[in-house]
Amino acid sequence: MNVVFELATAQAKQCIDLTERVREVVERSGVQAGLCHVMVLHSTAAIVVNEFDDPNIGRDLLTALDRAVPDHAGWLHDRIDANAHAHIKAAVLGPSELVAVRDGALVLGTWQRLLLVELDGPRTRQVSVSVV
Ligand code: ZN
Repeated sequence: MNVVFELATAQAKQCIDLTERVREVVERSGVQAGLCHVMVLHSTAAIVVNEFDDPNIGRDLLTALDRAVPDHAGWLHDRIDANAHAHIKAAVLGPSELVAVRDGALVLGTWQRLLLVELDGPRTRQVSVSVV
């Protein structure tokens, strides 16, 4: 089963918890044992697994990325659309995560959540969820 859903991000850079939306897809799929692949269909956003209970973790992640890959620091792609920093950060984080499904549920640690990392928003983003 594959579902693509959309969500609108609200800020230029932010982390959004997708876990409940992905859980709904897993439940609808009826898969009891398998794998769930979550992929953002854009090159300036990313999917990661991390904690969201303290939203400052997401803010710290974005700050760390800004320090490592500053905006408009002479990147060649900025000559075309001024978002090279977002492409680089997205490539470092990666576009997808793969999570096991056991007993019809995502196998995540207590503090782990599936997060979309917006790096060049606000935009409408498409997320593909495949359960096999
Ligand atoms: Zn670009």
